[in-house]
Amino acid sequence: MEKIKMTTPLVEMDGDEMTRILWKMIKDELLIPYIDLKTEYYDLGLEHRNETDDQVTVDSALATKKYKVAVKCATITPNAARMDEYDLKEMWKSPNGTIRAILDGTVFRAPIVVKGIEPCVKNWKKPITIARHAYGDVYKGSEMKIPGAGKVELVYTAEDGTQTKELVHNFDGPGIVQGMHNLNKSIESFARSCFSYALDTKQDLWFATKDTISKKYDHTFKDIFQEIYDAEFDEKFKAAGIEYFYTLIDDAVARVMKSEGGYIWACKNYDGDVMSDMVSSAFGSLAMMTSVLVSPEGYYEYEAAHGTVQRHYYKHLKGEETSTNSVATIFAWTGALRKRGELDGNQELMEFADRLEKATIDTIEAGEMTKDLALITTIENPTVLNSEGFIKAIAKRL
Ligand code: NAP
Ligand code: MG
Repeated sequence: MEKIKMTTPLVEMDGDEMTRILWKMIKDELLIPYIDLKTEYYDLGLEHRNETDDQVTVDSALATKKYKVAVKCATITPNAARMDEYDLKEMWKSPNGTIRAILDGTVFRAPIVVKGIEPCVKNWKKPITIARHAYGDVYKGSEMKIPGAGKVELVYTAEDGTQTKELVHNFDGPGIVQGMHNLNKSIESFARSCFSYALDTKQDLWFATKDTISKKYDHTFKDIFQEIYDAEFDEKFKAAGIEYFYTLIDDAVARVMKSEGGYIWACKNYDGDVMSDMVSSAFGSLAMMTSVLVSPEGYYEYEAAHGTVQRHYYKHLKGEETSTNSVATIFAWTGALRKRGELDGNQELMEFADRLEKATIDTIEAGEMTKDLALITTIENPTVLNSEGFIKAIAKRL
């Protein structure tokens, strides 16, 4: 068989632990035999990040600006334990945080729906895609512990030196305080990414905040979304037969539970963090969730929504068998290959991505799956495969 040609490289960001093991298996078994794979390779494994003083992470993000499409393996975000484990020079920042800061944009997470893995929420028939704003709020907050009585204020000093103050609280004893921010520019690009993605995928867009309580902060999000919708997207949405719907966050949560799915739910940073784990667990498993960062300039970075599956990796190192689910990582590759095909007008590459996804889903629906899915499937007597066996079963179907 002649291999499928690629004209432009993808940015390939390798990662850590169990997902790094899966990464190589996926390439060897599912990609390289069929595609003349062209990638620009960046090793974001923690050892190499440490060797390069994390420059490799920055370089990989800059390469994504150049080539427009990247695929990323899960990576370790160092904590105190990792400092010792990897003898790190510094507690390097989260690579995802660094990449998002360079590319900007919004993270879209959607469950991979298969027959036999039924959502816990019975009326959910179609996937719910979470669009998480990836900048600011509590993730860029500053905090203080207030030791005792005293006054806390917000102070804005304009460039000309004039000050505006707002009382936070007159403390009469110990307490806590937090300051956070966002930028109109970032909210605008969040809104545009969401509206564009809704049009791309022909799904309704829901957005919710707590604007009744937060009359300036959250209300600004609501206003910016509405202004951009009215000015740039209203006609396009009507032509596509889709809807933009705004409501309060608590109302949205109640409606989501009662809905049948099939829409994009735009969430502020914290809401998106929390709700995406709820939605993914309710749909079955974190390992059955795709994740893509879409920048306002049209750069795409595909990844799995889960981490490096550290516990499985330690078993692997001890020579024990693992049954780690590679579906989300496979779909990160298919997402990136399909987008590469779309941008390059490479029909064969797009069709290959479709076929690999179908082979993956068919394998599970035929009852061959990893342990995490076998525990929750409605299929009787599923065959539980190990990490490699599952990838080989997909290869056989492919
Ligand atoms: P995790 O890697 O997502 O794994 C948590 C648990 O979820 C696993 O122990 C496993 O449960 C289950 N699980 C997750 N993915 C699975 C899969 N593909 N197949 C089967 N089971 C799966 O989270 P973590 O262990 O908290 O974090 C490990 C490392 O990942 C950390 O260093 C963290 O910084 C990093 N992380 C990276 C990213 C990213 O790069 N995007 C995201 C999150 C976390 P059982 O053990 O019960 O089988
Ligand atoms: Mg989270």
